[in-house]
Amino acid sequence: MSADRTPTAPRHLVVVGAGLAGAQAVAAARSQGFAGRITLLGAEGVEPYDRPPLSKELFTRTSPAWLGEELGTDQTAADDVRLGEPATGLATGPHGVVVRTAGGEIRADAVVLATGSRPVLPDGWRGTTLHTHDDAARLRAALRPRTRLVVVGAGWVGAEVAGVAARAGVDVTVVEAADAPLAGALGATVGGLTRPWYAAAGVRLLTGVRVVEVAGTGGPGAATGLGGTVTLGDGEVVDADVVLVAVGARPASGWLVGALPLEPDGSIAVGPAYLVPGTHGRVAAVGDLALRSSPRHGPVPGGHWDGALRGPAVAVAALLAGPLGAAPDGQPAGRGRAPGADAAPATSSDPTPYVFSTQLGHDLGLLGVPGEAGDLVLRGDPAGTGWSALWFTPGTDELTAVLAVDRPRDVGAARRLLAGPALPRVDRTAAADPDRPLR
Ligand SMILES: Cc1cc2nc3c(=O)[nH]c(=O)nc-3n(C[C@H](O)[C@H](O)[C@H](O)COP(=O)(O)OP(=O)(O)OC[C@H]3O[C@@H](n4cnc5c(N)ncnc54)[C@H](O)[C@@H]3O)c2cc1C
Repeated sequence: MSADRTPTAPRHLVVVGAGLAGAQAVAAARSQGFAGRITLLGAEGVEPYDRPPLSKELFTRTSPAWLGEELGTDQTAADDVRLGEPATGLATGPHGVVVRTAGGEIRADAVVLATGSRPVLPDGWRGTTLHTHDDAARLRAALRPRTRLVVVGAGWVGAEVAGVAARAGVDVTVVEAADAPLAGALGATVGGLTRPWYAAAGVRLLTGVRVVEVAGTGGPGAATGLGGTVTLGDGEVVDADVVLVAVGARPASGWLVGALPLEPDGSIAVGPAYLVPGTHGRVAAVGDLALRSSPRHGPVPGGHWDGALRGPAVAVAALLAGPLGAAPDGQPAGRGRAPGADAAPATSSDPTPYVFSTQLGHDLGLLGVPGEAGDLVLRGDPAGTGWSALWFTPGTDELTAVLAVDRPRDVGAARRLLAGPALPRVDRTAAADPDRPLR
């Protein structure tokens, strides 16, 4: 497969992945004036839909939240839409890219990689994961009042499902290997503050306990096909009618092995403008697939909706300043940046990492990247009606992240605080006072 391509008009962009980031890439290309050809490749065979409602609205929403209806994205803005034709290979060269599918080779000037992530299901384990609309439908059908559900992993998705399932009368046990829920995202100190929520919701929470295996074909779970016997590291055995394995997701980059350098977790390291180094500025990776180098926050992994929403516009702007902006004769259009250069974009183009979640009756908003637990300031009483946690660069008053729990005003204030060209300086004593606005 050769990626050499003699430039001819019109320019051609391929977007691989028809999820949120892919849909946003197509929309951004058109809204930023790209008049060339766009090909969109997907793997699920359906139009792009939103994933957060799969857990939060597990029992109340039975049809997919189509992005066309939710956000107004329009995949017909692409000229060639192949929703059930996954990419299987990629080659890049100085003159173009080639994307391979089962249908053949697609030659283009640039490609946006937006293949998202895949949930982790350890080899040999029974149970299900929750990533697609089909997964949600299967899980919903299996859960009834008093069904015994074991959720493996108290991360964002596991905690959300535990909450909605308990509210629906399901008998829920959550098993978490770390010492606290959300420890991976927030650290054990702040994650531990969510522990009482489980008891209040009637959910049994086991922390510091590893699941060794989920086995069994008959007995528990035989009726749903999603259950089994859950063996814990401390020897306890828990019978489950349904096991939800929510131990995280890995970037869906298997098809790129050998084509691009991959990080140990399978993500693709990109510069501030989402361009993949060493690809002549022709390849951008966005959404869950990308590990982005943020000028203000350092390496920012994907895995969160807001990054997949906002990142593609930045990536497309960089491609338009390079290979997609080249004139038909192959001369750069001269939009101010050398093709392939991944310069630090303007602050407005350096999206502040943002995660939202609704779990066990609480609304969470996390802005920025949490740092050391020792440099933590709590704002409000975690046992009260709303509180926030603020992280600082160790030994300084430089704010790196804010988690707001049931305090929507702090989300708005944190968003403004973290929107500047550099991380803000904040008086810790004043910030700890929940009655003073966080500005
Ligand atoms: C249950 C659930 C709840 C969530 N809740 C939240 C939340 O509350 N807050 C939050 O911030 N984030 C949440 N997220 C994460 C958020 O949904 C993702 O970060 C976001 O969907 C990432 O978008 P993406 O386009 O990068 O990837 P995806 O949405 O995964 O889309 C990638 C698409 O690419 C397709 N694809 C894969 N391989 C190929 C290939 N080789 N060729 C072509 N197409 C391919 C996939 O089938 C998929 O359709 C949640 C995720 C899940 C699963």
